[in-house]
Amino acid sequence: MSHKVTLVPGDGIGPEVVRATVAVLEATGAKFEWQEVEAGADFMLKHGTPLPDHVLNSARSTGVALKGPMTTPIGGGYTSPNVALRKGLELYACLRPVRSLPAVESRYSDVDLVVIRENTEGLYSGIEHLVHPGVVESLKVVTDHASLRVSRFAFEYAKARGRRKITAIHKANIMKMSDGLFLECSRQVARDYPEIEYDEMIVDATCMKLVMDPHQFDVLLMENLYGDILSDLCAGLVGGLGLVPGANIGDDCAVFEAVHGSAPDIAGKGLANPLALIRSSCLMLDHIGETEASEKVDRAIIQMLRAGEPRTPDMGGTARTMDIADAIIQRLG
Ligand code: ATP
Repeated sequence: MSHKVTLVPGDGIGPEVVRATVAVLEATGAKFEWQEVEAGADFMLKHGTPLPDHVLNSARSTGVALKGPMTTPIGGGYTSPNVALRKGLELYACLRPVRSLPAVESRYSDVDLVVIRENTEGLYSGIEHLVHPGVVESLKVVTDHASLRVSRFAFEYAKARGRRKITAIHKANIMKMSDGLFLECSRQVARDYPEIEYDEMIVDATCMKLVMDPHQFDVLLMENLYGDILSDLCAGLVGGLGLVPGANIGDDCAVFEAVHGSAPDIAGKGLANPLALIRSSCLMLDHIGETEASEKVDRAIIQMLRAGEPRTPDMGGTARTMDIADAIIQRLG
């Protein structure tokens, strides 16, 4: 059976890592019918919007998308197409499994935790205004609806994967109402899963504890901004942004993308590490029922890492993006 998948190369290093990932997926034996759609910074220059309707329409019709990063201008400029895509498709849960890989230089070994981030609201609601020259407001929106559904997702995920504990991350000592509501919803859902341990931790203390001993954590559940920041922090625990996969999941659609952004500093040079997106594509293969292909790619990545090369510059090597794809393909067996 051939799987219809929307393909969004994005911009920056996006097209490079997407090309490498598609080459690996095509070599697994699984069959795909790609619907490639343009979006991102270059599309914005030509057509005045970074996220045209055809992207959302294609993803709605296929139900699955593989996506490269898209640049979000800092300060002014257009709103983030990545956030708009997650909101437009109601991809309310962002899933980022953070696992140590063999032979990858990092401060820790045997890290195995999962970041689950609310994806549609919080401070990413995009509601900002000028109150008076020199004074701006940015609103953090928290609803019971969104908090309950992401909590439910986290507990169902933990149950299905045999994970033992969920820690809800918050700053409810300061944001008593917004983070307070998020916690209330997490506690309400936790009561339905007595077999899974549940606790809570303030976000700043969590950062310190993650850096000192990440092994004490299992599944971390949090709102949007803390999820964005902690995802990068956790990526740093296991070798960096070039390695960590991600998925944005809703009831009708799922979009698979790496944690990293468009990395304009290395774009177009063939130096980007495609492993984060290739590993995101393993999550996609699991999602569409191609578990055998997913395991094959995972095994090939581990064999390649154990061999010590090829490695892209972020991992201390000199290899190029497509060298990684080729080395994985050779080991698919
Ligand atoms: P965003 O805000 O869009 O998520 P970011 O601020 O997290 O982006 P990135 O674009 O992810 O920033 O880049 C952060 C740093 O990590 C940059 O120095 C970049 O070159 C590096 N980096 C990110 N992704 C990769 C990759 N796949 N391979 C190698 N280096 C990467």
